[in-house]
Amino acid sequence: MLELLKSKILVSDGAIGTELLKLSNEKNPEILNLKKPHLVERLHANYINAGADIITTNSFGANPVRLKDINIYELAKTSAQIAQKVKTENKFIFGSVGPTGLKPNDKKFKNIDAYFSEQICGLNDGGVDAILIETMIFIEEMKIAYKVARTETKLPIAVTMSFHLTKNGFQTYGGADLKSSIKAMLNLGAEIIGANCGNGFSEMTILVEKLKLDAKEAFIMIKPSAGIPKRINNDLIYPDAPDKISKFVEKFVNLGINIIGGCCGTTPEHIKVIREIVDKTTQKQKAWAQ
Ligand SMILES: [Zn+2]
Repeated sequence: MLELLKSKILVSDGAIGTELLKLSNEKNPEILNLKKPHLVERLHANYINAGADIITTNSFGANPVRLKDINIYELAKTSAQIAQKVKTENKFIFGSVGPTGLKPNDKKFKNIDAYFSEQICGLNDGGVDAILIETMIFIEEMKIAYKVARTETKLPIAVTMSFHLTKNGFQTYGGADLKSSIKAMLNLGAEIIGANCGNGFSEMTILVEKLKLDAKEAFIMIKPSAGIPKRINNDLIYPDAPDKISKFVEKFVNLGINIIGGCCGTTPEHIKVIREIVDKTTQKQKAWAQ
C-alpha cells in the first residue's frame, strides 16, 4: 500500500459511526459487529461501491473504557473479519483506533497501553492492512497508542489528530496546537500523518496548507467531517452536503494530499463525489505534465 501511495491518491471511506447510528438505536456502534454484523458489512460494501480504496473497521471505540464487560480483543478481531468479507483486490482495510475518552491526569490513564493492546492485537489478528490511530486530541495518548501498534504489529501506521479552528489557530480539544501536534506525529515515525473530523471541508483546506508545509516526507491523510451539525426536529443535519464539497476536494488534491476520505456526517454519496474529483483532478495534472 505504501508503495502505491507514491504514485496514487487513495480514497478512504466516510463515516462509520454516524452512518450506523442512522440504522440502529445502539448507542455504541461497535456492538453492531456482534449483534447486527450485516449492517456493518453493508455499509462497508456501500463505500466500496462508491469508489473507496480503503475501508475502516467498526472498532473506533472498542476499548474497555467505552465498552464494559466485552471481550475487546474478540470485538476488534470481528470488526476486521466483517471488513474482510467485502474487501476485493487492490482494496485495503484500516483498523480504527479512537481515543479511550480518558484524560492524561485520569487515574486509569496509566492502563491505556493494555487497553490499546487488546484492540490493536484483535485488529491485527483479524487481518487489517494498517492501523489507523484517529481523532486523537492528546499527544500523550497518541504516543501510547502508536507505541503499542509499533510493538504489537508489523503493519504500517497512520496517526491523525482532530483539530478545530479557534482565534488562536487550529487546536485539539485537548489543548494541543497544530505545530506541536505535527511535530509529535512526525517524531513518532508514523508512515502516514494527518487530520480527521474537525470543522468541515472548508477549514480543512486551510489546515492542509499548513500540514503540507511541515509534513516532510510522511504521507498525508485527511478525513474532514461534513461540518458542524444542526439539530432540526430530530435529525442531525450536516452542512457540507455531497454537492457542496467538490471545490474543496479539488484543492486537497492540488495541495498534494495522499489519502482522502470523510469523518462524521459523511456518507457513501460524499465518497462518490470525492472519487470523481480525485480521478478528474489527477487526470488533469497528468495531462499538464505531458
Ligand atoms: Zn468525526
